[in-house]
Amino acid sequence: MEDHPRNLTEFEARFSSEETCREYLFRLRWPDGFRCPGCGCGKSWPLRKVLLQCAACGRQTSVTAGTIFQDTRSPLPVWFRAMWWVTTQKTGASALGLQRVLGLNRYETAWTWLHKMRRAMVRPGRDLLAGTVEVDESYWGGLNEGRRGRNLKNKALIAVAAQEDGRGIGRIRMKRIEDASSESLLPFVEECIEPGSVVHTDGWPAYSGLAKEGYVHQVTVVSRHKQSASELMPRVHRVMSLLKRWLLGTHQGAVSHKHLDYYLDAFTFRFNRRKSKSRGKLFYRLVQQAVAVDPATYKMIVHPVTEPKKIPKPQDIGVT
Ligand SMILES: [Zn+2]
Repeated sequence: MEDHPRNLTEFEARFSSEETCREYLFRLRWPDGFRCPGCGCGKSWPLRKVLLQCAACGRQTSVTAGTIFQDTRSPLPVWFRAMWWVTTQKTGASALGLQRVLGLNRYETAWTWLHKMRRAMVRPGRDLLAGTVEVDESYWGGLNEGRRGRNLKNKALIAVAAQEDGRGIGRIRMKRIEDASSESLLPFVEECIEPGSVVHTDGWPAYSGLAKEGYVHQVTVVSRHKQSASELMPRVHRVMSLLKRWLLGTHQGAVSHKHLDYYLDAFTFRFNRRKSKSRGKLFYRLVQQAVAVDPATYKMIVHPVTEPKKIPKPQDIGVT
């Protein structure tokens, strides 16, 4: 059963102390009771205030160890307030907004927290899209939002997959990709769409390998139709325009390319749960995933290493 506060009043009544927050994390991390991360044993005894010691291997752990809250110097209620705020903001959260709400002295702290939370928005092993899915790519950044030109330096290419849901949009996935080649596009499709699904693309040749990968490839060659690309593949175009509006609005366009993936995850998290009536449920999901992802240090966030060949240079550290 998903146990979460339904509104701000319930939230405040419940998560005002370190103990209640810790207890909540415990139940979400170990729903079937404690498991030692070292040996898997279920027996432990409490050690001092927050530590648990495994009865079998003696390993000491805490409910926050190995999660995004590891090594935090801030009280858990402040983290909980941050997670509540992030999930209840209608338009999504910015670092400046978070800094104001929590009264943090440093902008960098708010920025780091947001990025830590964004990492928790990607559910480890989340399920794949299925049915009929539109796939396309689009550039972000730079003055001309061109398509498939040479990969210009100040632009980032984003691949989008949007599931059909009648005439509307079901769930989506997004990822920044290197270029519009089949080496970039096919792995994106395989990462997010169930084999056997119908994948609807335009006539770009890089998609031609889809049938070989086990998909039913539906091709719409835009130049052969009277309608525009956004009419022929309305879902991916709608998602891209919503994303761009969000990046320009909430984040005022201040999104560096190397951190783009985090923003895409945050947008996807929100979009895929847009019909959920309860904001508390969103909060529940975020906390649940926060205790399921590995911790990240400030350094790891500033230098995200997605592909080993692309380690950023030291002069490239920029905080947006
Ligand atoms: Zn153990």
